[in-house]
Amino acid sequence: MEILDKSIRNLKGIGEKKESLLNNLGIKTIKDLIYYFPVNYENRKKFVNIVDIREDELVSIRARVKSKPSIYRPRRNMSIIKIAVEDGTDTAYLTFFNQNYRFNQFNIGDEIYISGKAKVRGLLKEFNSPIVSKKLGGNTGIGKINPIYSLTKGISNSELKKFIKEGLKYREEIKDIPIEIKREYDLLDIDKAIEIVHFPEDRENYIKARNTIAFNELLELQLSLLILKNRRITNSANIVFPNRSYLEEFKSGLEFKLTNAQIRVIEEIEKDMESDRQMNRLVQGDVGSGKTIIAVYSLLKTIKSGYQGVMMAPTEILARQHYNSLKRELEKYDIEIGLLISNLKASEKKRTIENIKSGDIDIVIGTHAVIEDDIEFYRLGLVITDEQHRFGVNQRAKLSNKGRNPDILVMTATPIPRTLALIVYGDLDISIIDEMPPGRKEIKTYGRRYNSRRDIYDFVQKQIKNGRQAYVVCPLVEDSDIMNLKSVESVYKELKENYKSLRIEMLHGRMNGVEKDDIMIRFKDREIDILVSTTVIEVGVDVPNANIMVIENSERFGLAQLHQLRGRVGRGKYQSYCILLTENRSQISTERIKIMQKTNDGFIVSEKDLELRGPGEFFGLRQHGVPELKLAKLPRDLNILSKVQILTMDIMKEDPYLNSKKYNRLKEIVNKKILL
Ligand code: ADP
Ligand code: MG
Repeated sequence: MEILDKSIRNLKGIGEKKESLLNNLGIKTIKDLIYYFPVNYENRKKFVNIVDIREDELVSIRARVKSKPSIYRPRRNMSIIKIAVEDGTDTAYLTFFNQNYRFNQFNIGDEIYISGKAKVRGLLKEFNSPIVSKKLGGNTGIGKINPIYSLTKGISNSELKKFIKEGLKYREEIKDIPIEIKREYDLLDIDKAIEIVHFPEDRENYIKARNTIAFNELLELQLSLLILKNRRITNSANIVFPNRSYLEEFKSGLEFKLTNAQIRVIEEIEKDMESDRQMNRLVQGDVGSGKTIIAVYSLLKTIKSGYQGVMMAPTEILARQHYNSLKRELEKYDIEIGLLISNLKASEKKRTIENIKSGDIDIVIGTHAVIEDDIEFYRLGLVITDEQHRFGVNQRAKLSNKGRNPDILVMTATPIPRTLALIVYGDLDISIIDEMPPGRKEIKTYGRRYNSRRDIYDFVQKQIKNGRQAYVVCPLVEDSDIMNLKSVESVYKELKENYKSLRIEMLHGRMNGVEKDDIMIRFKDREIDILVSTTVIEVGVDVPNANIMVIENSERFGLAQLHQLRGRVGRGKYQSYCILLTENRSQISTERIKIMQKTNDGFIVSEKDLELRGPGEFFGLRQHGVPELKLAKLPRDLNILSKVQILTMDIMKEDPYLNSKKYNRLKEIVNKKILL
């Protein structure tokens, strides 16, 4: 085992107790410790003259003790010691509470260093409990930039600093990237960079070190993903579906004509399925572009080839919808479809699981939580996840382990800007549906204030009288004392009172599965005019006759979410409307509404979303299952990522298996990552 992978117990000063505390911080190995970076820094390097001290500024000064300390005892068990110091420009007072030893610590005329936040009251300058030292550097860190770590009870910052210094003794063991790359991109040696990020000398030197580490991290990640993808190509223990298409037959049974984009994507999928490499394909298509039918055909091909297929959806409502539509679309074929969700009766669930195992069920539809459970397949050939952005890479991997390398198809409507897509979906091939079914009209989107609410619902009523249906989405289920927001219950009540002739129902996550299912079926069958709902209908729900989406307190929702919600309408031939209600005039909310009004294009929306969220936000990458980055931050480091991606492509062209000597180290790093 490499030394860096050994337990921190091997370090000086770390015993059983400290080890378990450090474990709480996620630090197990020496490498973890070295890569435990500061969350902030305290600059005790900035020396000023006392006369220049500003209120609340963190500064250090060099001064002489001016007079004998004074001590007050305002109460029993409490002492206050004041020491006056001067530096030739002015005098400052140091105040210490209950630190009696300070009384005799210094002599008049001693030169000392002081660091802390000053209070300025009129002409009086005062430091409360500052850091004081007779010399520079040392444990107090005066004269240095000091790292501040995220801590846990029982470990102090200075203690952690000490441990990290111990760990850093092994920093030369860290594997570095090739010197050619370091030169080309002006990077530091990795071990040097890591040391600097813990103990920087100045800002410039810190930034270079930080960017070096971010570059390394992103390069390792991107390379690993691409190598994984390459490896799949050559792995031969995969299912090979017979080279036979059922597309003509399938098409003839459809109510509509597939778009060219849909046909192209289906062909890409068939080719993958028939090849001896495992399919790992992402189908990306904006809301309403018609992804489901592609899944249906892929499942049909799977069953016709003698295998089982499974399709996961992120919500129960969507799982039930898929179940119902698959039953309909595949009615004329002799195919057994099973539904697996948490709300089933125990006996029913048990029977379904048995039938999956025996092969009596051909297609399983369900929520991921359920499918992840211990179900076994008879002959699993294809795994589909709908709304992939709701799942992580790990979940995908878990399912893929169910059979003998089944083919994998993932579908998402949430477009991710290209650079990020390479990270998030780096190991996937991508098919894009870039065409909407014919006859769709651009959804008209309006931002409105609450004073026009009545007019809006009158308009909704008019549309309903013309045969349409509407969704109203609220941020809460019931009214809350804390937040003054619209709730499903109150809006439902209000609309029922004001529009007596309309059929209005509620839908939210607190209802049980059967109730939710019943409401959705009745909505689809046009027995309900207005569905007042929470965001449980955010993804996937498909009722083409509905043409109005009213979003109450729209400021509560993010841009991507608003786009998804809007995608519930505009799925048929009718002119559709999305109305974003808000009283909120914050800049971000106004900006979001502007973007929503300007474009229906999910790609543009997601690019803007990224811009608006700005640096610091994690862009849900964790939820996407991207391995944790210790220091690199996306989207903040997008410019580094772009460089890395070009470099990665070049490396893959030059030496796809990293066999040449100069990639020795890199290969070791990447192999280790892939194995994890
Ligand atoms: P999404 O891509 O958002 O999952 P769906 O697959 O739910 O979209 O499709 C949206 C609606 O469009 C559905 O009602 C579906 O029946 C319909 N649809 C899909 N493809 C076509 C097509 N080629 N022509 C007309 N309607 C289509
Ligand atoms: Mg869908």
